[in-house]
Amino acid sequence: MLELKNVSKAYGDNTVLNNVSLNLPDGQTTVILGPSGSGKSTLLRFMNLLEVPETGALTVNGDSVTFGQRLTDAQIRSVRQHSAMVFQGYNLFPNQTVLGNVSLPPVLNGKISKDEARTRAQSYLDRVGMGDRLEEYPDNLSGGQQQRVAIARALAVEPDFLLFDEPTSALDPELAAEVTRVMVDLAQEGRSLVVVTHNIEFARTVAQRVIFLADGGIGFDGAPEDFFASDSERIQRYLSTYG
Ligand code: ADP
Ligand code: MG
Repeated sequence: MLELKNVSKAYGDNTVLNNVSLNLPDGQTTVILGPSGSGKSTLLRFMNLLEVPETGALTVNGDSVTFGQRLTDAQIRSVRQHSAMVFQGYNLFPNQTVLGNVSLPPVLNGKISKDEARTRAQSYLDRVGMGDRLEEYPDNLSGGQQQRVAIARALAVEPDFLLFDEPTSALDPELAAEVTRVMVDLAQEGRSLVVVTHNIEFARTVAQRVIFLADGGIGFDGAPEDFFASDSERIQRYLSTYG
């Protein structure tokens, strides 16, 4: 379970998120929707402390931090070990091969040996259809291939929650589709995914849960079918822009 309780964040006098709470059980796909600038990335980054709220608390599978006070490195690590992030821009290590990108993080975490990490990396790269490109460097791959390597890298630390921030927004439709297929597979395996996206079709067909951000808070939190049937003017306006 991942729980954010009463978290807030402002940049100067721009209040991005005001006293937001949510509770995500394991084994579900949650999609976070909302207009540009509504705080989707900020909320997702709270979940693994890439961004730190000013108030409130975060609990992930038994490990908790309370905001508004200095966090120790040990506290940050304890919460962060439960999740891994996939970014819009892939963020692969450019001077590492595909195999290096996926096998290095679990070794750096101090969890497993180099040999184990390579075996594990190979199996996750097979899963995303990149098992035959081990010695390639990121620059020689398409955006879709790089993003699939980034997903394998996130899987390789064996996180409880996989966090995706607009994973297909930088990709042409065909390449986006190959990344989306991997994500659908992960969702169908019952992994815990939190996905920021404008891919309305993914929200409609894959998610068990939709969270809609607007005006500094959660404007909707519930089942996709209820979201798409909503007569809220704010949601209708969003869907007519992005749907
Ligand atoms: P979204 O992902 O929904 O587009 P973000 O979470 O990236 O929204 O940003 C929400 C708001 O916070 C925006 O108004 C953005 O300009 C502002 N913001 C985000 N990061 C920073 C920052 N580092 N400094 C100042 N303002 C920021
Ligand atoms: Mg964003």
